Amino acid sequence: MSAKGALFVVSAPSGAGKTTLVNLVRERLPNLAYSVSSTTRPPRAGEVHGRDYFFLSEQEFKKGVEEGRWAEWARVHGNYYGTDARWLEDALDAGCFLLLDIDVQGARQIKQRFPDGVFVFILPPSMEELKRRLAGRGTDDPDVVARRLADAEWEMDNRDFYDHEIMNDDLETAAGELLSIIRSRGEPPPCPAAT
Ligand code: ADP
Ligand code: 5GP
Repeated sequence: MSAKGALFVVSAPSGAGKTTLVNLVRERLPNLAYSVSSTTRPPRAGEVHGRDYFFLSEQEFKKGVEEGRWAEWARVHGNYYGTDARWLEDALDAGCFLLLDIDVQGARQIKQRFPDGVFVFILPPSMEELKRRLAGRGTDDPDVVARRLADAEWEMDNRDFYDHEIMNDDLETAAGELLSIIRSRGEPPPCPAAT
């Protein structure tokens, strides 16, 4: 990792509440730069291109692979996702604190490239609660929910790879834990990439 910035990676089985948690932490740490991934997944209702994701066609995504555009990329729950390498390196060089919300496969690739990164796994309180949250979110068709639940077991089996685990039972408690992990590296400095 760059001597200047700091890199935090969070992963979780789908429905654990990672996005909710990350959004809360971002509100409280406005200087924290969030990596907007690219994906071939169709947008959910309310998602905005460039804010939640860059929504690409499969052809555009694969062109990015050929061009070495991704710092990491993976096929997750049947769609492609990737992190822009240039954005990541520029933000770290500028001394920013960065947060990446990526899956287990991507986290392992980032660890190879940035071994000083801090890796955090978000756990649901139980698999029953995970099912409730995933179905209750109401954004995905039943077949998509089933696919994500089937993938959750494998994702949970990878939790030992991470430096920290946070159980997202009470949202405020979990947010406090993530905030203190980030602040253990110092207070995020002003960052042009954190917009
Ligand atoms: P992920 O990004 O991990 O897939 P989301 O952040 O979309 O998950 O959360 C999935 C659902 O669970 C959402 O409906 C969200 O409001 C709800 N949720 C998130 N955190 C909690 C929590 N601590 N307690 C109860 N419900 C939660
Ligand atoms: P969702 O479709 O629910 O937004 O995200 C599905 C999964 O893809 C989550 O585990 C999320 O962390 C992961 N993901 C999002 N962006 C990236 C990325 O850039 N790279 C990788 N490897 N995974 C990502």
